[in-house]
Amino acid sequence: MINSTHDSTLKSWVDSANDPDTDFPIQNLPYVYFDRSGADGDGGIGVLIGDQALDLTRCREDGLFASEELAEVAWTLQKGAAVSNLFDIDPEALSAFRARLVALLKDDSDEATRSIVAKNLVDSKSVRFDIPCEIGDYTDFYCSIYHATNVGKLFRPDNPLLPNYSWVPIGYHGRASSIVPSGTDVIRPKGQGRPDPEAPPIFGPSRRLDYEMEVGFYVGKGNDLGDTIDIADAEKHIFGLCLVNDWSARDIQGWEYQPLGPFLGKSFATTISPAVVTMEALAPFRVPAFDRGDDYPAPLPYLSDETNAGSGGIDVKLDVLISTKKMRDEGIEPHLISRSNLKDLFWTVGQMLTHHASNGCNLQTGDLIATGTVSGKEDSERGCLLEMTLGGKEPIELPSGETRKFLEDYDEIILRGFCEREGFRRIGFGECRGVVLPAS
Ligand code: CA
Repeated sequence: MINSTHDSTLKSWVDSANDPDTDFPIQNLPYVYFDRSGADGDGGIGVLIGDQALDLTRCREDGLFASEELAEVAWTLQKGAAVSNLFDIDPEALSAFRARLVALLKDDSDEATRSIVAKNLVDSKSVRFDIPCEIGDYTDFYCSIYHATNVGKLFRPDNPLLPNYSWVPIGYHGRASSIVPSGTDVIRPKGQGRPDPEAPPIFGPSRRLDYEMEVGFYVGKGNDLGDTIDIADAEKHIFGLCLVNDWSARDIQGWEYQPLGPFLGKSFATTISPAVVTMEALAPFRVPAFDRGDDYPAPLPYLSDETNAGSGGIDVKLDVLISTKKMRDEGIEPHLISRSNLKDLFWTVGQMLTHHASNGCNLQTGDLIATGTVSGKEDSERGCLLEMTLGGKEPIELPSGETRKFLEDYDEIILRGFCEREGFRRIGFGECRGVVLPAS
């Protein structure tokens, strides 16, 4: 629901939050977990505002959340708590908390309050952002029909989309332990591949390392084992979104994936952006679910209701940039290689969640569920190199004169996401970055 916290005229006394290009105006306020790099080395739960992080743990100690209405949220903001402590709080209580944060940060707040808040701001550049919580389980879907078609074409030119695709949201269980925060280096994995189908497979560093532009969402309230989640209630179980880079070794993946799906070609690293953009902040950017027209069957009843069809989609522009070592040495800015949009997914986040729990599987607070590579209809909207270079056949050209079929050592991939709509303030997701290091 759109409310007064989305008002585009709201301004903050934190000047950097009023920069039209910031990802973090007062209308966003995504949650983060940060570690101070300074003397006491302690961490805390925060929200991002402009180029600052507001330490909510210390704000609580200073009595800024003392009202009865905020008691439940305030209780979770204790020292050492994870952001996921907030995830299973009722949306109404979280909404009241967001309204309180806006009141504290907006430009007409009173001087006394402002001085307390100001001493709990920390420069985002001076702290290290960690993943927001211990992620128990990580699932990756395959929800872009354009990605599935483009990849399918490489293997089955005449029949790219398998017959189950338009009926069942396809996914696999990923590896939670290797999820790392933005800025963590990614070591090129070693594994088995079979570059020459006539010769035996070989073991060594991946030669076909790729990224995948994805979005993830965190499970808020879970469900008990044996229970399911109705599509009408699905979004009450989703706390917020982040960016995900599902690094993929195509040679390892291509050799191992049959018959049980992705394994070591994916599990060596998954990078996420640290900021969790709440479903409430995204309210102005909701759009209808994918228009299936006459081309695809309507979803089965358990995956469909009017609300999901009318506003289950989310309009988030997703950019992928690359920066090679040569580009950095020559002072060339990171280069945009694709722009896709979350609204083009065939399945909505609500459908992914409902389907995941439809067999009685218990989803748990803090689980991360990713969408799969987000690609669009156009060539410029392809969310990974496998698609963009047609499996390594057509290299892309970079402003440094270099070309890429797949990633080389010291390449950096930078994912960005942002929402724009006439009449509303632009909000963003920050960045999800990672540099590829040589195999160890
Ligand atoms: Ca993926």
